[in-house]
Amino acid sequence: MDQGKTDFIRETIKKDLKEGRYEKIHTRFPPEPNGYLHIGHAKAICLNFELADEFKGICNLRFDDTNPTKEEPEYVEAIKRDIAWLGFDWGLNEYYASDYFPKLYDFAVKLIKGGKAYVCDLDPAQIREYRGTLTSPGKESPYRERTVEENLRLFEDMRSGKFPDGSRVLRAKIDMASPNLNMRDPVMYRIMHQRHHRTKDKWCIYPTYDWAHGQSDSIEGISHSICTLEFEDHRPLYEWFLDQLKIHHPRQLEFARLNLTHTVMSKRMLKILVDEKYVNGWDDPRMPTLSGMRRRGYPPDAIRNFCSAIGLAKSESTIEIEYLEHFVREDLNRKAPRVMGVLNPLKVIIDNYPEEKDEELEAINNPEDLSAGTRKIPFSRVIYIEKEDFMEDPPKKFYRLAPGREVRLRYAYFIRCIGVKKDGNGNISELHCTYDPSTKGGDAPDGRKVRATLHWVSAKHSVGAELRLYDKLFTTEDLSKNDFKKSFNQKSLKINDLCRLEPSTREAEPGQIYQFERVGYFHVDPDTTTKGLVFNKTAGLKDQWAKIKRKNK
Ligand code: ATP
Ligand code: MG
Repeated sequence: MDQGKTDFIRETIKKDLKEGRYEKIHTRFPPEPNGYLHIGHAKAICLNFELADEFKGICNLRFDDTNPTKEEPEYVEAIKRDIAWLGFDWGLNEYYASDYFPKLYDFAVKLIKGGKAYVCDLDPAQIREYRGTLTSPGKESPYRERTVEENLRLFEDMRSGKFPDGSRVLRAKIDMASPNLNMRDPVMYRIMHQRHHRTKDKWCIYPTYDWAHGQSDSIEGISHSICTLEFEDHRPLYEWFLDQLKIHHPRQLEFARLNLTHTVMSKRMLKILVDEKYVNGWDDPRMPTLSGMRRRGYPPDAIRNFCSAIGLAKSESTIEIEYLEHFVREDLNRKAPRVMGVLNPLKVIIDNYPEEKDEELEAINNPEDLSAGTRKIPFSRVIYIEKEDFMEDPPKKFYRLAPGREVRLRYAYFIRCIGVKKDGNGNISELHCTYDPSTKGGDAPDGRKVRATLHWVSAKHSVGAELRLYDKLFTTEDLSKNDFKKSFNQKSLKINDLCRLEPSTREAEPGQIYQFERVGYFHVDPDTTTKGLVFNKTAGLKDQWAKIKRKNK
């Protein structure tokens, strides 16, 4: 763990420890189980778990499961899987706000008894209307002055199921003229005759997020309650509740949420993409979800390094998605074994190579990590190269194969093109070449040079696969100003089933990742177990971030 990090959160924690405000650091990551986690959540996960680690404290995983209409056990499981995948361990510290429902109810009764909460019969539209606006004060509810006894009786009746959904709420009695709208008698409980995934049919009233969240932190003894900036305006309310109840006060600290170009970072919007079938599920490799990134082949280390690099800020900003991809490439470049694969095959017949001959050539698995060793790749008379590596009439700066020209086949031989065959439509169907046997391994003993090295596969030894090639999920960079559905990139998924790969990939298993030399990084999809080899393109080889950085200088 990086001990050297400094930022406003770490500074505050150090100060609080020094002044004895808290003895022990206790953080938490508090997701609502209403969708899958996205990369924005990763920022909060890294922060909370790393702080606990750095300051020898504890980080809880707490599900803020207060809204049964939107929550599902599937989401709970997915969230746990993703956090573990990122490399964090909450141990036994797994909690649920729903476990505190009885306690929260008792707290509410305490507030009612103190004249600090009341049952209100206004309907949701009226409550909104009475609330006022940023420029005008709110209006007090006609039910605000109910007696403690009446409030206690009505609240108990709410809980025992005597009233229909939406007919009454419990509200905190604070200040309808407060400049902070959150303080204008916020709702604490709603009636919802809904089955909860954990408490089942025990409750028909549910606490609002604003009522449950702060008390849950307090119950857990959280020292630093870290959240995103939009909760800054809720802080006075959370403080107010804690003051009235006279219970443990965590310190709330807000940081700017992570936004990325070309994508959306909201479970609500991501759910729409899933439900309306823009994508193939939450773990579609185009999604900014952690499960999507895992399926795409993004290593968890790359995500953590990215989260570290972007740091913490007090004001909103948007990070280029290319910066995230930069960390993915950096990690994969070190770790991914190389293989050769041809995406758009062009057949090449090596006329002077014996028809019946096969040979095995030695290839390096990872030039960045020689401990990864070498492998054998078969060579024979008929091979495939990439269509785009040949031009019949090449322009000046095209150095690859052309009629009469010699190039190197990686780990194999120099070949020279001596003939081009076309089909009835005038399309090139195959090339004829000769090879120089003295150049085995890729170097000419007479020292002559070639200007290009091509990747290739032996036709008869090669294996086929389905490659899923991805582009950005949205065509626009800044989605905050655009209708995200209209910006959906219809070309964000392309399937290639023409490719031919070297035979070592035949045994590839889901989760493995390769660099196809000169092409990009490819990750074996779980579909491979049922459909034959399927790869997701994780990233191309060119670091677009370097270009952006230069441009911005
Ligand atoms: P969404 O809008 O995607 O539903 P949320 O904030 O409602 O996000 P929660 O499940 O409540 O989702 O989030 C759990 C934690 O993750 C919260 O503490 C929240 O502050 C943090 N978080 C959510 N989105 C981001 C983000 N983009 N960047 C940093 N932290 C985030
Ligand atoms: Mg939330």
